[in-house]
Amino acid sequence: MYAANGVGLAAPQVGLLERAIVVDTDSENRGLAPLCLLNPELVEAEGDITWEEGCLSVVDYTAEVQRSARVLVSGWSVDQKEVRIEATGLKAVCLQHEIDHLDGKLFLDHLSPLKRSLYRKRLKKIKRSGELPDDGVPRI
Ligand SMILES: [Zn+2]
Repeated sequence: MYAANGVGLAAPQVGLLERAIVVDTDSENRGLAPLCLLNPELVEAEGDITWEEGCLSVVDYTAEVQRSARVLVSGWSVDQKEVRIEATGLKAVCLQHEIDHLDGKLFLDHLSPLKRSLYRKRLKKIKRSGELPDDGVPRI
């Protein structure tokens, strides 16, 4: 995740069929205290926020996605303590994005059919060229 400039990762993205996520949105202290959650569940969600999202599982494509602005997520820590995390901003977006991964969804599933088709076209172009451009947007 850190090597790819990511701020979140879900176990299925690395081939593990577990309900586990890691989130680290603290840009000033990256790597010092990543939030690791097992069996995370969205307990409360309110408000709307639009965020430019990218994903480590989506090649060279970002898009604005509307999500809940404030969330309350419950889950378990790696040392088996029940935790509840309240989050806003990037952290709220990231938690929703990673929980989506656990349910087999990508941020692309929140986009219109037209935007998804634009991504498919872009992916075909990238496959033909064999190059991966870097747009600098952090992936989650
Ligand atoms: Zn992702």
